[in-house]
Amino acid sequence: MNHIPLVSPAVTPSASLSDTPVPPPQVSEEIRHQLDLPDTLPVVNCLARARIPTTQGPEIFLHLYENNIDNKEHLAIVFGEDVRSKTLFKQRRGDTQQDRMTRGAYIGKLFPGRTVADRDDKNGTELHFDALGNLIRESETTYADPVLVRIHSECYTGETAWSARCDCGEQFDEAGRIMGTNGHGCMVYLRQEGRGIGLGEKLKAYNLQDLGADTVQANLILRHPADGRNFSLATAILLDLGLTEIQLLTNNPDKILAVEGKNREVKVLERVPMVPLAWKNKENGIKSKEIEGYLSTKIERMGHLLEKPIKIN
Ligand SMILES: [Zn+2]
Repeated sequence: MNHIPLVSPAVTPSASLSDTPVPPPQVSEEIRHQLDLPDTLPVVNCLARARIPTTQGPEIFLHLYENNIDNKEHLAIVFGEDVRSKTLFKQRRGDTQQDRMTRGAYIGKLFPGRTVADRDDKNGTELHFDALGNLIRESETTYADPVLVRIHSECYTGETAWSARCDCGEQFDEAGRIMGTNGHGCMVYLRQEGRGIGLGEKLKAYNLQDLGADTVQANLILRHPADGRNFSLATAILLDLGLTEIQLLTNNPDKILAVEGKNREVKVLERVPMVPLAWKNKENGIKSKEIEGYLSTKIERMGHLLEKPIKIN
């Protein structure tokens, strides 16, 4: 196998197994502008929002988005009723209170017989709008403090088919657990399976990995970029939700810059590391031959800010 150069900017991995928040890496404006980030963000529109009680306890508010760059249904999993989408809550022509409740643009809780979307009689709170119908973001009704954010790319194998080739399922569950405990948070769920190459190509890459390639090499052999993901949709969704100052749950330094966008429309105030549960000696961490190689590649080839624990036994 030929040596393949690093695709990510070189970053010194910090030896850390702790998940205490750390300041994001300092990057000069010059480097930021050299990155291959789009000049303008995609246009996103939130079509619907609904409360989902979960098997884990906390309630989530699932937001479904359309956009102008692909035909996929990207999502935001929001913890907190008071995080509000600008496009969902904007008053539309001919909008009735019933229409607003149906698409999820309401305050408080829905109950049988409720007729007004914009006012929560139980708590005495009311949403206000400007002359153009835009929601006025008031602290009494709309959350504005920095929240914990995770950008998650769809992984059918890891989330649904119990795959131990990657840690996506574990990271997804763990991020949800932390946000549920915090009370506020947002997971942007992007439909870019297999680092953007799609499920079919990902399955081929798995076969190449079984033939000896690592995850980066396998993608390159298939003539795909090592990482074909695009995070500009996530930036646009965060802006729509009014989440412009965030803490980002990630080990990936490239993701911080990508999510912030070329013009820093979103600011990552802190990075919160995600340490694999197996490394923290948690019983439910993933244990497989494949996951070791996968995590090593993330660290050694993709500049992730994690260091593997030294095996003592
Ligand atoms: Zn995965």
